Amino acid sequence: MPGEPQDDCLFCKIVAGHVPATIVRETETTVAFRDINPQAPTHVLVIPRVHYRDAAELAAAEPAVAADILREAKAVADEDKLESYRMVFNTGSGAGQTVWHAHAHVLGGRGMQWPPG
Ligand code: 5GP
Ligand code: ZN
Repeated sequence: MPGEPQDDCLFCKIVAGHVPATIVRETETTVAFRDINPQAPTHVLVIPRVHYRDAAELAAAEPAVAADILREAKAVADEDKLESYRMVFNTGSGAGQTVWHAHAHVLGGRGMQWPPG
């Protein structure tokens, strides 16, 4: 069922506390934790507690939770005292998505180039 926890999903396991993570913030609907392979001094993943394969599916099914992720990204940036930050939703394997549970990358603490690679 869409939204239900998936046994084979790494991020569902982090939400359930079955896989350890460095959690920086939690709300009723979201969990934010440090990426295991950081690409910037701040690299935090903000995920919904509910399981959807990507941000678009989440936004279609539970738009309020998608909005919570945007707010939490700013809260993470504020906690790490970032003046600027980049929020990325890799969507689809061609864009680099490797974990099929919606997540926002919050990156900051260094200069950023545009366009991204
Ligand atoms: P994607 O490539 O799907 O946009 O992002 C998945 C992210 O999850 C990657 O940046 C990767 O480093 C991170 N990641 C993969 N496995 C783990 C893990 O076990 N713990 C944490 N904290 N991050 C992970
Ligand atoms: Zn999941």
